[in-house]
Amino acid sequence: MVYSDIEVASREELRDIQTERLTETVAYAYENVPYYQEALDEAGVTPDDIESVEDVSKLPFTTKEDFRDEYPDGLFAVDRSEIARLHASSGTTGKPKIVSYTDEDLDVWREVMARSLAAAGVTDDHVVQNAYGYGLFTGGLGFHDGVEELGACVIPVGGGNTARQIDMIQDLESDVLSATPSYCLYLAEAAEEQGIDPAELSLSRVIIGAEPFTDPMREEIEEALDVTAVDVYGLSEIIGPGVAIECEHAQDGLHLWEDHFYPEIVDPETGEPLPEGEEGELVLTSLTKEALPVLRYRTGDMTSLNYEECECGRTVVRMDNVTGRADDLLIVRGVNVYPSQIEEVMVDIEEVAPYYRIDLYRRNNLDTMELTVEYCESYEGTHDELESTIRQRLEEILEVKPDEIEVVGPGVIERSETGKVKRVFDHR
Ligand SMILES: [Zn+2]
Repeated sequence: MVYSDIEVASREELRDIQTERLTETVAYAYENVPYYQEALDEAGVTPDDIESVEDVSKLPFTTKEDFRDEYPDGLFAVDRSEIARLHASSGTTGKPKIVSYTDEDLDVWREVMARSLAAAGVTDDHVVQNAYGYGLFTGGLGFHDGVEELGACVIPVGGGNTARQIDMIQDLESDVLSATPSYCLYLAEAAEEQGIDPAELSLSRVIIGAEPFTDPMREEIEEALDVTAVDVYGLSEIIGPGVAIECEHAQDGLHLWEDHFYPEIVDPETGEPLPEGEEGELVLTSLTKEALPVLRYRTGDMTSLNYEECECGRTVVRMDNVTGRADDLLIVRGVNVYPSQIEEVMVDIEEVAPYYRIDLYRRNNLDTMELTVEYCESYEGTHDELESTIRQRLEEILEVKPDEIEVVGPGVIERSETGKVKRVFDHR
């Protein structure tokens, strides 16, 4: 279902809206955020230089370091009295990024989240069990508000507590689960351990996000829970979840709500904009935010953009499923390795469970890569056999070979019941 007419507007209409909103946003940020005034002055750009949406590339980037440097509220454009809500995005190091919303911003967020849910096939008859964490993290409340806006029923279970989570699905017959992909797999496994067939649960779809994943991983989720798994994308710095989502119709790229968020793809090394269709780092500019306008935010997420109309009729640009981050890139003995490449192999080998970890060390000045892999309950072969299968498959796709592959039994690798799973441990 198309929730808003803008989803099927012509490219010209979209472009006009973007031009109007971008010029307003730049002028607004310049006037109200000293940080942006300084950044634009330094780049030699004035708001008058932004005449059309293509001029966006004249603007300087905003980075996660800028959020940290301006902690807590240096990027805010409104007075404290106008702020309706604050969230924080936890970083792995240092201070969190604090993000803020006016009443208008919250309305926009509800609207884009409702659009997203509708595109995912959620209707006002559905019961949505929200397993994203509530609290400072934008995932929980972002989904919650969107479900209410759409007119469906939300169960605010929050992250973790898997036994209760399964009880709720069974007793309340939830139709939709929103959770991270790794948590969906964890829940399926936990159900099985309780003697419940996860495919028999009432869920018809899951909305997965907050973590990069690969297509084989998605298939694994769809099979285990007998659901359609739809990819959602968002980030707190821009608004939270609801920036883009796949439609359940095509499941082929995420419809990005570009009347509110303007996307570009740049070379992660040089920052130069890349031609249409090429893969690079996603950069987003907010077009309607009041409390926290963001110009050209470097998301760190690697993807590409597709401007062709989707089978579902939506005309807004689609971004490819994010399978890695620009800063995810591992350089092992001078060779580029993306953890998603390893994941694809792991999920593709039937005897292997979708749990693995990569450990990187520097020994005698040499990078070493160790891979720990878990075999499935049903596997009856030897460790050596499995190890050589994995080694062979990895050698087909990676230029660098793992120094050690350790095969362990089911349940040995640590699961993440809440939040995002960590698979790469760089000890170098
Ligand atoms: Zn579509």
